Amino acid sequence: MQQKVQGLKKEFRKTDVNRLRNLIQGKTGDSTNTQIGYSTKQEDYKEGDVWTEGRKTWTIKNGIKQTISKLDTIKKEVFMPLSCPCCNKIMKKQLDKPNYKIHKKCFDCVIEFEHKLRIRGEYDDYLKKLKGKNNLTILDEAESYLLDAINTSNNGYVSEHGEVERWIGGVDKIKLTKQVKEATKTRRTHLKKELND
Ligand SMILES: [Zn+2]
Repeated sequence: MQQKVQGLKKEFRKTDVNRLRNLIQGKTGDSTNTQIGYSTKQEDYKEGDVWTEGRKTWTIKNGIKQTISKLDTIKKEVFMPLSCPCCNKIMKKQLDKPNYKIHKKCFDCVIEFEHKLRIRGEYDDYLKKLKGKNNLTILDEAESYLLDAINTSNNGYVSEHGEVERWIGGVDKIKLTKQVKEATKTRRTHLKKELND
């Protein structure tokens, strides 16, 4: 029997609460329990374990169950080279990091590049394209987050970025997946059309 914790709006199971407690207390080495697919087979996983579930590779990092691809994305975002690939100067300014993330060069190089575009009268077009590309990236991320959430929610956890929760009553995975894919497809077509206008 699963022990339920009463008084919470969402239905938390005892294992969810334990996982949260471990997370808060920094006890990331403690093993945590997860269900695989639709079977009732229980497997214990602990910090650093890597396993395949569904079509994804999962791990537990800092007490949170997450997909490996998500980790890779986070890594890529965090690590940037010491010097700018464009001018070779050390990137140490506060604005270097956000600019490197988008443009793969330092803030000074971005300023210089954008200045040249302004002179050539190409700046507005460039800005429009940049915004469009950014919106597409956000859309892709939102889609994969939602599909992840739907396809792990019936028996597992929706636990990206520290959220540990369990949905009540289960979800219609096929219907929701179809809805998400259709909605993002419509939006993607619209954004791409804007980008190419
Ligand atoms: Zn530079």
